[in-house]
Amino acid sequence: MLTFTTIASLREHLAGCRTSVNPAPTTGFVPTMGALHEGHLELMRRAKNENSLLVVSIFVNPIQFNNIEDLEKYPRLIEQDSKLLETVGCDVLFAPGVNEMYPKPETAQYDFGLLAQVMEGAARPGHFNGVAIVVRKLFEIVEPDKAYFGEKDFQQLAIIQRLVEICHLPVEIVPCAIVREADGLAMSSRNMRLTPQERAVSTRIYQTLIEAVRLTERNNPAALKQWVVNQLAAEPFFAIDYVEIAEDRLLQPIDTWNPETGCLIFVAVFLGKVRLIDNMRIF
Ligand code: AMP
Repeated sequence: MLTFTTIASLREHLAGCRTSVNPAPTTGFVPTMGALHEGHLELMRRAKNENSLLVVSIFVNPIQFNNIEDLEKYPRLIEQDSKLLETVGCDVLFAPGVNEMYPKPETAQYDFGLLAQVMEGAARPGHFNGVAIVVRKLFEIVEPDKAYFGEKDFQQLAIIQRLVEICHLPVEIVPCAIVREADGLAMSSRNMRLTPQERAVSTRIYQTLIEAVRLTERNNPAALKQWVVNQLAAEPFFAIDYVEIAEDRLLQPIDTWNPETGCLIFVAVFLGKVRLIDNMRIF
């Protein structure tokens, strides 16, 4: 694996690969913020499998954080990450510093309409604009054929798909299923900041979602949402940020079931200062 920290050196290397490797080289790209876990590695295995070149980026993107403490406490484990990347056959790691990515302040403003006005968009003002700026920049630098994103961040995935559509970016977005711990907790780089007690109870998020999907037939969406709120509120370690039952396109809340329209349950919960998100498909 080769590691690059500058845009120019990465571009030069990728240009060389594109002329020298097998007849139709394709680039699979997995953008991350590091502190890698199995969830990230699954995206990478798939990307490696489906392409001749695997490029991964690790960049803790300051402009997508609306909470300074979250940014400062975000785990940075580049050496450990590099070793993990070798195990999945990563060819190229791009790990730029903040000045390399943002030599001057960013001013781009994306309008994602309703999609950015709910859940993560409502709870974290400016978050998706910061995500869109960095992902577009990374796409322009890496020029991947396919880019892989986890359904753990379902709304982010929808935003990226919309970004590709509105900017006509020549890349295929590949959604990948959520990878969970043995007890069901969705893997996240933030999980390592949980105390042992918080980690122990965190599995209730998953258990609640599983049970809620089972209760769909007996409840309308509003009643089911209230049931989920009650379950999560009963756990003293949890502070609910939001619970939503929404369709899978613009992620707007629904008030009746319609099996023709896909829908999911979404939750965001604080355990102390750590904010976890999860989701589960109903239809
Ligand atoms: P992050 O480093 O948190 O920005 O995540 C990088 C990519 O990995 C994003 O596309 C995430 O959705 C994806 N990802 C993170 N955790 C998981 C997980 N548990 N299962 C599947 N994908 C994940």
